[in-house]
Amino acid sequence: MTQDQDPRSLATPDRQLLMDRSVPGRRGVRLPDLDVPAEPLPDASLLRDDLPLPELSQPEVVRYFTRLSQLNYSIDTQFYPLGSCTMKYNPKINDQVASLPGMANLHPLAPPEAAQGALKLMHRLQTYLCEASGMSAASLATLAGAQGELAGVLMIRAYHRSRDDAARRVMLIPDSAHGTNPASAAMAGFEVVSIPSDSRGNMDLAALRKAAGPGLAGLMLTLPSTLGLFETSILEVCEAVHHAGGLVYGDGANMNALLGQAKFGDLGFDVIHINLHKTFSTPHGGGGPGAGPVCAGPRLAPFLPAPVVEEDASTSSGSYRLATPPQSIGKVGAFHGNFGVLVRAYAYIRSLGGEGLRAVSEDAVLNANYLQARLRDDYDLACERLCMHEVVLSANRQKKQGVKGLDIAKRLLDYGFHAPTMYFPLIVDEALMIEPTETESKETLDAFADAMLSIAKEAEETPDVVRNAPHTTSVSRLDEARAARQPDLRWRPRPLG
Ligand SMILES: *Cc1c(COP(=O)(O)O)cnc(C)c1O
Repeated sequence: MTQDQDPRSLATPDRQLLMDRSVPGRRGVRLPDLDVPAEPLPDASLLRDDLPLPELSQPEVVRYFTRLSQLNYSIDTQFYPLGSCTMKYNPKINDQVASLPGMANLHPLAPPEAAQGALKLMHRLQTYLCEASGMSAASLATLAGAQGELAGVLMIRAYHRSRDDAARRVMLIPDSAHGTNPASAAMAGFEVVSIPSDSRGNMDLAALRKAAGPGLAGLMLTLPSTLGLFETSILEVCEAVHHAGGLVYGDGANMNALLGQAKFGDLGFDVIHINLHKTFSTPHGGGGPGAGPVCAGPRLAPFLPAPVVEEDASTSSGSYRLATPPQSIGKVGAFHGNFGVLVRAYAYIRSLGGEGLRAVSEDAVLNANYLQARLRDDYDLACERLCMHEVVLSANRQKKQGVKGLDIAKRLLDYGFHAPTMYFPLIVDEALMIEPTETESKETLDAFADAMLSIAKEAEETPDVVRNAPHTTSVSRLDEARAARQPDLRWRPRPLG
């Protein structure tokens, strides 16, 4: 953490650094008496005595680290409306199932006959994900959403190559797509062409048709888009791309908006990825682990990454085995994917069932629209229409009063809420992208809406309070550019005194 202020200057007793609490001679543990022959210490020249280590009692160490842990913000403590990230509550039973010794201790190199249960679970999960998405085959090998995207566009590339049609190099991406989409397409060697959105937040169909020429490899479409909207012309969009000989990739990271309502396969998508760590229950944030399974329709199924799990009743070593699809793009990681995340998704799907999964999307969409209804008079909306799982506001009105989206996000911290995603999607000025998720109660949504409304009022009446926020957090406004460029991640010893 880099900050303008030295954290020691904030020192109340519980904010002092560990080193500052050191008292010479104090100790937290006592080693047992030696019960093996003593060995002489190494050459004294190899020993250092200038390393200032803190000397503390055990309770002081416990308090220090417990206090630090309490500074953490998490979905298990507070509301976390970070748009596009689906920071929802994940039932603990899913973690418990993933921690069962048979799941957690299985060695990735165990022979298939010793891992039939795990393979069966993976096979079933492939089937469930295909059922939920309307696709025909799945690979669980990819380890994140963005990696699922990369695998998906590599499959599109391999498909065109397999037909001696490798001149197709253009990947169309609407300007309302998730930022990882153009990055994945570029990594796979495609030329990215952006398609603008129309005033209602849909893709501009005329621009799409114009761009869909003979060099078209495909289209990557985030559904719902990062405006939190369903693409209402989706059938025409897929039709136009297919007509030009391209394939359609679907970014299904936010499938909590669609579960049980619409299937990617029915809409015309050829390949999609799903974020198990968003929609299907794995606590995430802080970088992992995740899983971004790829699901393909009939044309792209042969190109799925390896391995996939197949059922084969005729072998003697058990019914389930790992297989490589015939024209596979190959392996995308070590072993067979993030197994613990797969187990959590399986447990989540089995405990909710079809009806429960449909209720997920109903509640996710209802909650976002409830916030939209409560906030629409005091904030500008990115688009005036029903939203899906998230609502994108613009702080344009507040900006005219001298309060930016960033200031509002910081002020929310004073009210005890994590900030929403900010300044994304890029096509909305002063964007505040709010995803309440399906697991929040009406009381929590109301408390958040009340905070947003009172910040809108402050922006009008006492803008400085918002501009200088946060006021109640342990550190105030950080120099974010410096924090990103010169992150200070390691404690370094410094002389005492
Ligand atoms: C989160 C997200 C991704 C990327 O997923 P990671 O697992 O973070 O790589 C891609 N697309 C959308 C729409 C997302 O919300």
